[in-house]
Amino acid sequence: MSNDQGSQFLRAPIVVVLGHVDAGKTTLLDKIRGTAVAKREPGTMTQHIGASFLPWKALEAVCGSLVSQIRAEVVIPGFLVIDTPGHEAFSNLRRRGGSIADIAILVVDVLRGLEQQTFESIDILRERKVPFIVAVNKIDKIPGWKSFPNTPFVESVKRQSEAAQLKLEELLSYIIQQFASLGFRSDRYDRIRDFTRVLALVPVSAVTGEGIPDLLLVLAGLAQRYLKGRLLASIAPGKGVILELKEEAGLGMTATLILYDGVIRRGDIVVTGGIEGAFSTRVRALLMPKPLDEMRSPEDRFLEVERIVAAAGVKLVAEGLEKAVPGAPLFVAVSEEEVGRLKQLVEEEISGVKFERDVVGVVVKADTLGTLEALVGYLKKQGIPIRVADIGPVVKRDVVQASMVKEKDPLYAAILAFNVKILPEAQDEAARHGIPVFQERIMYKLVENYQKWLQETRDAEVRKAFEKITPPAVVQILPGYVFRRRDPIIVGVRVVCGRIRSGVPLITKDGREIGEIMQIKEHDKVLDVVSEGAEVAISIRSKAIVGRQVKEGDYLYSNLSIEEINRLLEKYEKYLAENEKSYLRKLMRFKMGLSKEIEYP
Ligand code: GDP
Repeated sequence: MSNDQGSQFLRAPIVVVLGHVDAGKTTLLDKIRGTAVAKREPGTMTQHIGASFLPWKALEAVCGSLVSQIRAEVVIPGFLVIDTPGHEAFSNLRRRGGSIADIAILVVDVLRGLEQQTFESIDILRERKVPFIVAVNKIDKIPGWKSFPNTPFVESVKRQSEAAQLKLEELLSYIIQQFASLGFRSDRYDRIRDFTRVLALVPVSAVTGEGIPDLLLVLAGLAQRYLKGRLLASIAPGKGVILELKEEAGLGMTATLILYDGVIRRGDIVVTGGIEGAFSTRVRALLMPKPLDEMRSPEDRFLEVERIVAAAGVKLVAEGLEKAVPGAPLFVAVSEEEVGRLKQLVEEEISGVKFERDVVGVVVKADTLGTLEALVGYLKKQGIPIRVADIGPVVKRDVVQASMVKEKDPLYAAILAFNVKILPEAQDEAARHGIPVFQERIMYKLVENYQKWLQETRDAEVRKAFEKITPPAVVQILPGYVFRRRDPIIVGVRVVCGRIRSGVPLITKDGREIGEIMQIKEHDKVLDVVSEGAEVAISIRSKAIVGRQVKEGDYLYSNLSIEEINRLLEKYEKYLAENEKSYLRKLMRFKMGLSKEIEYP
């Protein structure tokens, strides 16, 4: 280490963009990136790997007169904006109990307000305790809005017609109401005094650039005033997170590292987390994108650097990165001796996310540590127990785990695979054991699919138990259809209520036991079950004789105990038709001695 070790400085805050699909996240990021590139300061590298750096000077140039409005002296060097918007990149910027993202921009479509993924974004921002501001986007689409490209919102709004201004107010107040229902106080940013208490809404257009200066200034003001402690970095061994892994021709597996503290140098020993636990390796190269005007060929994309200081996004080339997982922390070790301690630190960081427990619960597999953590959190909230949470494709071992659960409770014998493949032998094994594997690229859908299956399986089990109970049934012996008078009796009947099957015991109106149904036939066909309206021949094992104890035209009733009737009416009510319930209640009255005979029909 050089002699500048330990000296502290204020680094650029790491900024992420979240929001509902189509709210304009990508367009907004492009606009911000464009700003960075267009106003490039000599000597500042605006393109990083996985992120873009927006130097303060560029902000000043964009914000012009507005800058004087943030009174505090500008000390942050700029912003490091993560290039990939959305949940996934954000979840990989993980750090135990929080995030390495310092601040977020939540993009909301002014015409649509808060939508499903906006709510999800707010949830994960809250969970990871990341402050955010809201870009209320697409103001150029407000009816009657006149565009003044790249103008601050506060100037543009003054030049709008009264109607357009009113429409904007109306749309904003709807959004403010939506935030209020989530427990947030929010307001148009230029009406806020205390930004720590009130959520800032900045009207923008990612297409015309209106409001972008305001957005960047609010972001800077907030970062500077309220995140200062957090942004204090030092010239010390680097700390970062693996955002992404990528195979590069000629380089092998490389990692996109977002460095949030300290320094990383070529040749450093680093410790990170992998599928099989923590491991160390040596940095072979650190790569940054080559500025476009210096690129000679498409292969000539990278520029090797000796060292890089936080905050930065850099491509790391090192042996063994194919074992690493996105979302894992990465620490620079000052010495070989320190590797052990750092490995332990990495293991601790990961152990809360990746685990295996001896409980009855589902098996969860995800592509990155960040998505696994988010998925585990989501499942916990839904009250779904988890046995295994791990990274990587679904393998045979996962199926073995699930089949162990099946012995105890088949409802949790399932595998949830998020963004990962299922290996063929695991697929075969799952089919053999009857273990369902759910595979999805959208988290809430994955969980929803499992829950749907859970409900259906539960229903099917209830249904199966229901089928075992003697069904409510009333049949009438059809006059002229007595084929055999004594054991076994064979008569033609019409089912007037419920359904019959073999084994159903029958009684007469006054409770006399006739016997069990042996077989049901329609012409020559033997049937298992027949329902209301059917006319069939039935045989009954019986001591009774037709013409004596029972006559043509008589009704016969399925015989249920009081306990069976209660069970049906309480547990299986939704499977019963109105007339079946009515019959059961009449039968109950008779069984309890409240009526002399079964008063049905
Ligand atoms: P993302 O899914 O959130 O990344 O949304 P995109 O950036 O892909 O934008 C979705 C659509 O909205 C695209 O057709 C954009 O051109 C459009 N769009 C985004 N921002 C604006 C805006 O400020 N004004 C208008 N009129 N269209 C926009």
